[in-house]
Amino acid sequence: MGRTSKQEEPEKCQIVGCDQESSRSLPTKKLSEVFESERLESGRKRTKLCKVHYREYKKATKKDRKLESLGWEY
Ligand SMILES: [Zn+2]
Repeated sequence: MGRTSKQEEPEKCQIVGCDQESSRSLPTKKLSEVFESERLESGRKRTKLCKVHYREYKKATKKDRKLESLGWEY
């Protein structure tokens, strides 16, 4: 509740090697289509992402979608 304890730190991005504050969480399965498996902790259902990695993910998935819909984003 309203208790301030040092244990409650802001949640971190869960991409291996990243130390940024997370802003989103996405299914690890989806992320594995974009990020190499070494960068994801397997066994997690969802992985938290910082803004930078979320943008990276969005960018990568956007490209795929563009291929599917033939320039729909234009
Ligand atoms: Zn990150």
